Amino acid sequence: MAEQTTIWSFHGGLHLEGHKSESTTRPIQRLPLPSRLTLPMQQHIGHAAEPLVQVGDQVRKGQQIAAASDYISASVCAPTSGRVVAIGAAAIPHPSGLQDACIEIEPDGEDSWCELPPPISDYTSATATELRERIRWAGIVGLGGAAFPTSVKVNVSGQRPIETLVINAAECEPYITCDDMLMREQAGDVIDGIGVVRHLVGARQVLIGIEDNKPEAADALREAIASRGDATEVVVVPSLYPSGGEKQLIQLLTGEEVPSQGVPASIGVLCLNVATTVAVADAVLRGRPLIERIVTVTGQGVRQAGNHRVALGTPIDFVIEHSGGYSDAMHRLILGGPMMGFTLHNDQVPVTKATNCLLAASREEAPAAHDERMCIRCGECAKVCPALLLPQQLYWQARAHDFDKVQDYHLFDCIECGCCAYVCPSHIPLVHYYRFAKTEIWTQEREREKSDIARRRHEARQARLERIEAERKARLRKKKEALEEKTDKPGTDPKKAAIEAAMQRVAAKKAAQQAESQTSSE
Ligand code: SF4
Ligand code: SF4
Repeated sequence: MAEQTTIWSFHGGLHLEGHKSESTTRPIQRLPLPSRLTLPMQQHIGHAAEPLVQVGDQVRKGQQIAAASDYISASVCAPTSGRVVAIGAAAIPHPSGLQDACIEIEPDGEDSWCELPPPISDYTSATATELRERIRWAGIVGLGGAAFPTSVKVNVSGQRPIETLVINAAECEPYITCDDMLMREQAGDVIDGIGVVRHLVGARQVLIGIEDNKPEAADALREAIASRGDATEVVVVPSLYPSGGEKQLIQLLTGEEVPSQGVPASIGVLCLNVATTVAVADAVLRGRPLIERIVTVTGQGVRQAGNHRVALGTPIDFVIEHSGGYSDAMHRLILGGPMMGFTLHNDQVPVTKATNCLLAASREEAPAAHDERMCIRCGECAKVCPALLLPQQLYWQARAHDFDKVQDYHLFDCIECGCCAYVCPSHIPLVHYYRFAKTEIWTQEREREKSDIARRRHEARQARLERIEAERKARLRKKKEALEEKTDKPGTDPKKAAIEAAMQRVAAKKAAQQAESQTSSE
């Protein structure tokens, strides 16, 4: 089938140095297991997973050790066999440097699998629910870095039918090459996984969007497509950051814009990262859960750049050690790429489902931040914003803590790509302001939700008290009416009637006494 030739464009973006070749000179290396694996319960967007094991338990490779706790949540499976040695707070890879709930496993060296569910080889005969349940069991999340639970993303029932499945193979951020190497080495698995998802969501066409700096990967995909007689199209797009943003890639490939604050499904598109499709193939066609991922280790600060297949939970310092260790040029360790990643102040934190790259950057690669100066309203930031926002307005409103206004400027359409901050001549760390504003708004919403719950509870209590009071009054009224009915004269005051009756009794007694005294005197 002829390749699609129409490639659209999106607003803004940046041409950045790729720095891809440093980590693509050798095949993916499988890393040995460390002496301890630390698995955070929150490796995804949504609710944290809930532990299913206890300290001292023996677990086997692939066994579910924590279950998805809600619809938007993901399970966690043991990356190897061993013993659970701790469950509790441990350091996690997060910009805050805070700790979070984790399960720690000491591998037993056996690496023995648990009993796995049977492969669903004939997936075209399986129902969408069966396939989604398998993906959910496997704990699959978006492996491009967003870590949104895939079982939720592919649940398109009740929405507009999915016309186009877009596979995100752009990997546009400098230095990151884990998807590139995965496509070169496992192109067949990519196409198999795409087949499952395509069937699951009923997509009419599949487009793989890949940047023009990955010719080997694009060739490998084309070969795998040809050998399977598949109708998937490989669409090579120009290298322009952030072409791998979900909305930007959809626009590049289809010419359609995802509406503000909307999801791709609203325009009949589903977008999945290329590594996620391999995880789907593993789960559905081999019955294997997500227990490892490919991590790029790169930058002048590490002796041997490359890509590694790493068991989830492996400490980052162990990964660096197996990359020859830090070089003398090491300045700053970044998790992710230089544009969207964040600095890690501690390398004794685990690799998670979202860890795509460890950039051991030299001073040259990650220069110290310049002093922030005042905005001069030059408008350069708006020129490069791929989301067509007004970054300087977002900045002013976020700085002024005007969280209503900042939403009027579509803060939540910001993909935090960092293009605006990159070009700002005043060196304003614009994305920090946007993240701060988003966090404040979420906190306020959570507080509002909490106070709404408290108000609803108070109103329910008031209603209950009023109902009890009304019931008490009704009971009294009933009693009174019953008493009135007992008296001979309906409507007479019962007190009055009682007094009259007593007086009549006294008068009768008196008359009897008088009659008795007359009889005795006679
Ligand atoms: S680029 Fe920087 S200085 Fe220029 S308008 Fe934007 S925020 Fe202001
Ligand atoms: S970080 Fe947000 S505001 Fe800045 S360029 Fe990217 S999308 Fe636009």
